Amino acid sequence: MITEADVGGVHIKYLYHCPRQLWLYARGVRPEHLNTAVLLGEAVHDTSYTRNTPVDLGAARLDFVDGRHWVHEVKSSTRPTPADQAQGRHYCHRLQQIGIDAQGTVLHYPKTRRTHRHPYTAEEAQQARADIDRVLDVCTAPESPSRLTRTNCRGCSYTDYCWTE
Ligand code: SF4
Repeated sequence: MITEADVGGVHIKYLYHCPRQLWLYARGVRPEHLNTAVLLGEAVHDTSYTRNTPVDLGAARLDFVDGRHWVHEVKSSTRPTPADQAQGRHYCHRLQQIGIDAQGTVLHYPKTRRTHRHPYTAEEAQQARADIDRVLDVCTAPESPSRLTRTNCRGCSYTDYCWTE
């Protein structure tokens, strides 16, 4: 079963998008390769910031860390979401755990040429730990969480699992 050390950026993203998605993911359900939105996200990654090397933290894999210890993440969407900020917060938490004094996250949105900075404050650190606890609670729940409304499921790569009667 999943432990605190196993919690990565994808778990955090799904926690914020839909707890049911997180629950399915934790059980090995992986339909992402069929989803064009995910493929588009990978394409944005492939064509943006190619000079930088992703940083592998085990369960968490982030885009890059600059010389001032800011985490940079490139997003395929046009506008920020709470999930984006939560992922960045999680990466800062992981970096702090291995002795790197992460300062915060810079989220890049190439489609709209926007960037958003989120300093890693004491409150953010507290929230990062709370997010991990929530991930563990969802993943270990015996029953799957309820579906979102059909409208909120639009574009989700798990639609076939949740809505095929
Ligand atoms: S289809 Fe809807 S309920 Fe199912 S995982 Fe996706 S967002 Fe959640």
